[in-house]
Amino acid sequence: MSTVAVSAPEAPVQPALKDLVGLDRDQLAEELKALGLPKFRAGQIWHWIYHKGVTDFAEMTTLAKPLRAELAAHYKIGRPEITREQWSTDGTAKWLLKFDDGNEAEAVFIPDDDRGTLCISSQVGCTLTCSFCHTGTQRLVRNLTAGEMVAQILVALDRLNGFPTAQEDRRLTNIVLMGMGEPLYNFDNVKRAMMIAMDGEGLGLSKRRITLSTSGIVPEMERCGEEIGVNLAVSLHACNDELRNKLVPINKKYPIKELIEACKSYPGVNNARRITFEYVMLKGVNDSLEDARALVKLIEDIPAKINLIPFNPWPGVEYECSDDETIEAFAQVVLKAGYASPVRTPRGRDILAACGQLKSASERLRKKDRIAAIAAASAG
Ligand code: SAH
Ligand code: SF4
Repeated sequence: MSTVAVSAPEAPVQPALKDLVGLDRDQLAEELKALGLPKFRAGQIWHWIYHKGVTDFAEMTTLAKPLRAELAAHYKIGRPEITREQWSTDGTAKWLLKFDDGNEAEAVFIPDDDRGTLCISSQVGCTLTCSFCHTGTQRLVRNLTAGEMVAQILVALDRLNGFPTAQEDRRLTNIVLMGMGEPLYNFDNVKRAMMIAMDGEGLGLSKRRITLSTSGIVPEMERCGEEIGVNLAVSLHACNDELRNKLVPINKKYPIKELIEACKSYPGVNNARRITFEYVMLKGVNDSLEDARALVKLIEDIPAKINLIPFNPWPGVEYECSDDETIEAFAQVVLKAGYASPVRTPRGRDILAACGQLKSASERLRKKDRIAAIAAASAG
């Protein structure tokens, strides 16, 4: 029996629809002005997108039907494709998201008793090369757009039944920019995305509940406090330049002294609003009692929290996580210096959702893509 290949009729070419997600209020108003719409319409549409979470203009019942159709002819309210969704036994969820150009990034939701934190990515990969971080070994790097960052929040809310956003017991209450990438190397997009996240008539996440983690891009830190106003977490990991140069090589450009100065003058820092210092526990590298004492000494003048992160290993890495007793002894020094609950409990380990592990899935996919490309080339 033979089969006959039947080609499908060619689909009419549709003009690409512009995504409204990621435009700030002014940009949205400007965009809609071009369609002749007054500013209050932009406010209504904003409410539908970010408060109600609709993705279809047809559901915007406060707008006349012809207007809904006109909007649908020009725009979309985008969501990236969820390439993979995983739920850990501890309630942590991880989404691998594919954007329009095929690039991917991950977002992780971590529920706790008193909060639900979404960890979002700011870049695909990272240009920095911290020696213990899996993301830093990823070759492919680009900044995520504001829309792509906001979309991570929207996807999480879709999946957690988080719309409409004004719910008494919201599951998603906090955002941390601690996924893939260095957020201060993508300042403008991060700023715009956070402005959208903080808008009280939309996603409504307060700046007190958003934390940006940086490896220490000193010249951008002040701007971060002034222009975005979110909490700051600093990936310290070592208390002398020799070691920090190895672990966090950007330290060669912005050494510890400058970093600490920038922390001291971070806008809005006071005892109610502290800087979080992150410190990854690496066996035999930075985990001695002497290191612990150096750490509390280094930051003694700064209103601060300390987060000791058990190192999450990945294939091929040269480091190991400090053992439990060492972490405990280190934590005791930190506790005695007045810092409460310093050790971060690893979450979602069964789905590789922990800090510094956000890379493997995209890497595997790229390998698959490579194989597909080789197959296509040899077939052609
Ligand atoms: N680029 C930013 C934010 C993303 S990383 C930064 O470096 O701060 C978020 C946190 O995870 C950082 O403190 C980072 O140093 C830490 N981290 C990276 N790889 C890790 C690993 N394998 N185990 C534990 N923490 C890691
Ligand atoms: Fe980049 Fe942060 Fe990883 Fe360093 S720790 S490589 S800055 S993502």
